[in-house]
Amino acid sequence: MSVIEELDALQTQDAAIRELARKARDLPLRRRQETDRVGGVEMRLEEARAGVRTGEKNIDAIREDILTHEGIIARYEKQRQTLRSAEEYKAMGQQIERENRALKDDKARLENAEAMVADARESVASMEALLEEEKKFIEDRVREIDLELAKTQRALLEAQEARAAFVAPLDVPEKRKFLSYYERLGKKYWPVVMHLGASDKCCPGCHMSLPPSKLQEAQRNAKLAEEPAKMKTVACDYCGRLVFKK
Ligand SMILES: [Zn+2]
Repeated sequence: MSVIEELDALQTQDAAIRELARKARDLPLRRRQETDRVGGVEMRLEEARAGVRTGEKNIDAIREDILTHEGIIARYEKQRQTLRSAEEYKAMGQQIERENRALKDDKARLENAEAMVADARESVASMEALLEEEKKFIEDRVREIDLELAKTQRALLEAQEARAAFVAPLDVPEKRKFLSYYERLGKKYWPVVMHLGASDKCCPGCHMSLPPSKLQEAQRNAKLAEEPAKMKTVACDYCGRLVFKK
């Protein structure tokens, strides 16, 4: 294999490593998104439960109001029996009527509040069912993600271990300049090794034009591909990528 082919092979391996590493970083984020979804449903459920509790307190308060009105009415009725004048009797009758109206209003309020709480209880029940369903679904997704992550991490480790075999042929005195250039630039730009077509006059990486002298050097390198000691590291002046001609 020529040094160019060896660099290509290393770059292909590194591309695979990068892709696996990206996946290994992304999967925990996806897992997090899934578990956050359960949190969202749980929060809505808690709000709905709070709604029921508030409604129940409201019902208790209305019931107390009703008891109060009923007590007042009973007391007034009793007092009325003791009244002597027709005027007093009539005035008491009006008070009793007022209390009765208030009592009627409270009973209507109670009916409304009870209907609202019944609705709220129903929506809590359906949300509980939804949460169970969602939890099961998410558990399955999380399990899948965990499996995929374990698989990815294994593959990444294997790819990283296999990398040594791609580095080895380049890690010799006459080729080491290419290897160290590649390793250095790869930290900033990707991919590092670019191939020029027969009529290409621009760097395929950054699309800036390459001067004729650069193209000639690349051409010369292509001819010397089997004699790496004589080859130069020909790189784009703008982005620094290595450019090769086939
Ligand atoms: Zn460039």
